[in-house]
Amino acid sequence: MPLLARMLAAPLVIDVRPGAIGALPALLTDRKIAGGGHVAIAVGQGQGDAIAAELPAGIADVIKLTDGGYDSAVALGRNLRAGRYEAVAGIGGGKTIDVTKLAAHVAGIPMVAVATSLAHDGIASPVSTLAHESGSGSYGVVPPVAVVVDLDRVRQAPGPLSTAGIGDAISNLSAVADWELSAADTGEAVDGLAAAMARSAAHAVLHEPGQDGSDEFLTVLAEALIMSGMAMAVAGSSRPASGGDHEIMHAINQLYPGTASHGELAGLGALFCTYLREDARQAAAISSCLQRHGMPRLPAEVGLSAEQFTVAVCAAPETRPDRYTILERLAMSPAEAAKRVEEYVRAIAG
Ligand SMILES: [Zn+2]
Repeated sequence: MPLLARMLAAPLVIDVRPGAIGALPALLTDRKIAGGGHVAIAVGQGQGDAIAAELPAGIADVIKLTDGGYDSAVALGRNLRAGRYEAVAGIGGGKTIDVTKLAAHVAGIPMVAVATSLAHDGIASPVSTLAHESGSGSYGVVPPVAVVVDLDRVRQAPGPLSTAGIGDAISNLSAVADWELSAADTGEAVDGLAAAMARSAAHAVLHEPGQDGSDEFLTVLAEALIMSGMAMAVAGSSRPASGGDHEIMHAINQLYPGTASHGELAGLGALFCTYLREDARQAAAISSCLQRHGMPRLPAEVGLSAEQFTVAVCAAPETRPDRYTILERLAMSPAEAAKRVEEYVRAIAG
């Protein structure tokens, strides 16, 4: 019999709505995810702690994470294996979810992602980004078996960083454009389904006129970030959601640690790369979306001088030598990069 369609691994449950946490006890105890009901919950320093305290007693053992790095993820993985847990839920922001995803992968058990912020597209992705002794790395992991986003909790999350994932979702447009550029220049194969999912997710955020705190906007953003994660799972790599935009981010993180969040730098990198690609229409759309949501568009808005940003742009291709993007296509000299950055700043600042 011919192969009629490809089979996709996808989460069993995706639950995005105000009050979604209320369904968590049933999800953890209905025996679909953990047959024997032996479940651990990993919580970070933020809202996860309070949420775990509100869950009915005895449904899961709560493990508090001390930091969000690679070592704590491996240690948690060992704990999960030693405790013979059947599943683990990570409740918290991006860091808690990244740590729990890698730990679940190490322990070989399913992971439930309970997101209390929408800071980046790791909610449902097969990638954990974790700090280690010499910077930070991205690790391939099994994606979450269930994804819960409680919009009330996202609204309660501190600061504008809780919706910085706007920039990460938007950056898919730049990443997919880079993928297509690579197809034309190097013959790299583009996975059409992964590209469609990543691009549609970005367009939903790009054209959603609502405000950051509304149910309508947060639902679109949460679903876009989930679809981005699934696009990566379909592609088997971060290609549909990470291009020159993320290369610039990695360079900024290496050169000037602590500059800004993942989502903020992804949005800035995507706008700059779209400008380099000379796609004026898309650059205008991305620029107005970032501006509407108070996201940074200029190096100065993340505390970098034009010179510092130029150094990062020149260092960016080295952060991902196997990935062909607009930066590899242009292969700018430092002088050319400085000129393009100067023109970009002038164009965006108006
Ligand atoms: Zn990203």
